[in-house]
Amino acid sequence: MPMFDEIKGFGVTFKRLFKKDLTIEYPDERRALEERFRGLPVLRTDPETQEAICVGCSMCERICPTQCISMEFTPGVGNGERDVVVYTLDAGRCMYCGLCAKACPVDAITMSNAFELSVTTREGLIYQKSQLAEIGATAREYFAQ
Ligand code: SF4
Ligand code: SF4
Repeated sequence: MPMFDEIKGFGVTFKRLFKKDLTIEYPDERRALEERFRGLPVLRTDPETQEAICVGCSMCERICPTQCISMEFTPGVGNGERDVVVYTLDAGRCMYCGLCAKACPVDAITMSNAFELSVTTREGLIYQKSQLAEIGATAREYFAQ
């Protein structure tokens, strides 16, 4: 009976009136992120020098399944390391798998909590080293024991 169906529908609505809201007023209200949340991969920095601690080994670039990391570097002066001149990460291709952070031997790249990355152009999703280091300055070691 059509009338009976409507009453049933109102009954469902009426029961929900006295229950706690499931929705929140984003972005004014935010849910806490899970501890193992994986947001934008970023470069961690040395707290003393504020420089990215990346040593230019290219492990992250080589292991990335979507090839969204690209680097250019020059040999470091007398330290056996390489100076990373260019480090870019295309967030539009990143699938947030965390393999780059897992492979990094010095925890220089980590998974941050950054997820609000909306932009109006594809170019806006390409992050340079300085931008990654700025976000990474406060990021935790994702795979720390
Ligand atoms: S999270 Fe995965 S897809 Fe994204 S940069 Fe790292 S390895 Fe590549
Ligand atoms: S794996 Fe780590 S140290 Fe090596 S290039 Fe990537 S971020 Fe730098």
